[in-house]
Amino acid sequence: MESRGTKREAGKIEVAEPWNKLPRPAPSLPTDPALYSGPFPFYRRPSELGCFSLDAQRQYHGDARALRYYSPPPTNGQSPNFDLRDGYPDRYQPRDEEVQERLDHLLRWLLEHRGQLEGGPGWLAGAIVTWRGHLTKLLTTPYERQEGWQLAASRFQGTLYLSEVETPAARVQRLTRPPLIRELMYMGYKFEQYMCADKPGVSPDPSGEVNTNVAFCSVLRSRLGNHPLLFSGEVDCTDPQAPSTQPPTCYVELKTSKEMHSPGQWKSFYRHKLLKWWAQSFLPGVPNVVAGFRNPEGFVCSLKTFPTMEMFEYVRNDRDGWNPSVCMNFCAAFLSFAQNTVVQDDPRLVYLFSWEPGGPVTVSEHRDAPHAFLPPWVRSTCKDGGCWEPADSFPAS
Ligand code: GDP
Ligand code: MG
Repeated sequence: MESRGTKREAGKIEVAEPWNKLPRPAPSLPTDPALYSGPFPFYRRPSELGCFSLDAQRQYHGDARALRYYSPPPTNGQSPNFDLRDGYPDRYQPRDEEVQERLDHLLRWLLEHRGQLEGGPGWLAGAIVTWRGHLTKLLTTPYERQEGWQLAASRFQGTLYLSEVETPAARVQRLTRPPLIRELMYMGYKFEQYMCADKPGVSPDPSGEVNTNVAFCSVLRSRLGNHPLLFSGEVDCTDPQAPSTQPPTCYVELKTSKEMHSPGQWKSFYRHKLLKWWAQSFLPGVPNVVAGFRNPEGFVCSLKTFPTMEMFEYVRNDRDGWNPSVCMNFCAAFLSFAQNTVVQDDPRLVYLFSWEPGGPVTVSEHRDAPHAFLPPWVRSTCKDGGCWEPADSFPAS
């Protein structure tokens, strides 16, 4: 019987198609926690390479002007009484969330510091560059049951760049955000205003506006397994009284959460919220998260400090808790998956990694708009081989 479709040379023995000619299933990465238990992977102690600030107009400055100073209320036996709804909405300037900044501010920092990076020649070419918030989402993926994500990846001069893409569902959620959720977002920023001062040693001034364009970002170096990392994260404040004044160990992350009354409420807090808090602060090496617990009227009446390195203890003996090893092993597996997928060095080529709860991470390939995210000002500065020299001027980002 003749094989289907093609005529074969007489006498030639028919063999199975070689493996590399078989249609291969599209590669994907599973996210089940059970697959990632195992020893905690190597994670280099994060060190700060530099910082930058974004001002009230969201303009970039290559300095620490937006850094604030931790200034908790005096511990004289009185409990705090912070009205988190004060100033809403009249003293609120929210950032325009329609503006997709992607990696732009971080790329500007990188362009201006490319020549002075530690790690030796070629360190950057082997690194992964992204925002801390994107890595946080990777860390929590094995336990996430609500929100999916999309990460765009491109390789340029060796370096792998990862930039989040808002999912259609997240966009719908953002555009239909209920008024109560909007107010809750404000309240988180208002808490920062009650706890931080513009200068060390002075008291906070909560009378001004809350402007969420303003940000202080730390740029950090670390390594997960064999993946060198350069990432940036927004830092709420520095503690002038911290045992070490060396960043990132002097940094403090501020959070608000609902006041809890029953053991069941605490258990749920440890399982869900503390996982997100841990992932966000562990990555940059921020040692403490200070929580303000708000009552139903929107007042913070109690504060509690959660040392990042002690958060896992709250779920260590909980069968339905989270495990830092799973988070970090999954993140390392994703970074390997991305490194092996994005082979071509081409800033116009984008691999879009997509994940929805319950499924694996899948990949699709794209070229140019709308997904290409390495801006022309980076590429044009680098096209002649004299790459990455600081540009004379920047277009407004
Ligand atoms: P986080 O850990 O999620 O807070 O994010 P990062 O610390 O990695 O923030 C990186 C940059 O993204 C900073 O300039 C932030 O101001 C900005 N950023 C953080 N969250 C959001 C957001 O929800 N939307 C937009 N457009 N930018 C954000
Ligand atoms: Mg915060």
